[in-house]
Amino acid sequence: MSLKMFCFLMALAGIFVTCDSPHPEHMDMDEQQAPASRPEYVLVIHGGAGVILREDLSDSLEAEYRAALNAALDAGEKILKEGGLALDAIVAAVQTMEDNPLFNAGRGAVFTHDGKNEMDASIMDGRDLNAGSVGGLTNIKSPIAAARAVMEKSEHVFLTGRGAEQFAAEQGLEVVDPSYFYTERRWKSLQQAIEAEKKQEAMTPEMKHGTVGAVALDKFGNVAAATSTGGMTNKHYNRFGDVPVIGAGTYANNLAGAISCTGHGEFFIRYTVAHDIAAVKMYQHKSLEEAAHEVIFDKMGIAGGEGGIIAVDPQGNFAMVFNSPGMYRGYTKPDKREVKIFKD
Ligand code: ASP
Repeated sequence: MSLKMFCFLMALAGIFVTCDSPHPEHMDMDEQQAPASRPEYVLVIHGGAGVILREDLSDSLEAEYRAALNAALDAGEKILKEGGLALDAIVAAVQTMEDNPLFNAGRGAVFTHDGKNEMDASIMDGRDLNAGSVGGLTNIKSPIAAARAVMEKSEHVFLTGRGAEQFAAEQGLEVVDPSYFYTERRWKSLQQAIEAEKKQEAMTPEMKHGTVGAVALDKFGNVAAATSTGGMTNKHYNRFGDVPVIGAGTYANNLAGAISCTGHGEFFIRYTVAHDIAAVKMYQHKSLEEAAHEVIFDKMGIAGGEGGIIAVDPQGNFAMVFNSPGMYRGYTKPDKREVKIFKD
């Protein structure tokens, strides 16, 4: 077992030991080359899971979503192709979707019951289990950039509300007027949700959620995960979902892989979905795909939770697993790219 592997296992077990940094600039040259058996890089993204049916999506809207997913893959792949880090690639991919009002993250985020946009995001670096998350942001243009700043520039993991906004602004991140996040489509969804709530009717699932996320493997063998969301339409009382909860909506370690989730956040928190997928893979020696199926269908799904995950492991295997009718998703690697929306 290499020293790095030993240190990493100790860190996973909660035992502190002094080790060299596992960052690629400190790696031996031979470790910087991707072994022939794994692809040089893999990037997987999602733009939310839910009741997304072919019959409900017009051809032009479907084309817009496909173009948006491809644009996010382009942004991240450019970095990976040039030999960049998984961490930089996932941030680029997520920011492209945050900027696009089609997705429930950044501009286009859903509204709270009080008519505000409160956004959550988190990021995790598989090299060293470093992580950052933010909850309830109302005026930071890129919530994922704020999560990254928490990870890299603070001694903390999770900042919320005004404090998180102050920290992000102090780090020089772009502050915008909250009206930047307004979209008419999401405002209408809030009005429908409030009406449904008054009549004690169930909200239609497509009113409720959406989220964006990215996971990547870089040529150094590092994995990383990032997730960003507006949460759920009509959320009350400063509710946070799974997205800013490390281990629930986002998780990464260089042994098991990187996972980003989307769906009914309360279930993803209770079932610590992202970490559980990594744990099932590591401790039961299952493939990433098998581990994701077990957690999404046999554990969380049976309990009534709906949603999906994207994941990639250090060998370059990846999974896009969901138990909802659809999930906006795509992957790209040197020899193949696909963008998908529906089950088939
Ligand atoms: N997981 C998000 C939340 O519960 C919403 C979603 O992904 O659809 O806030």
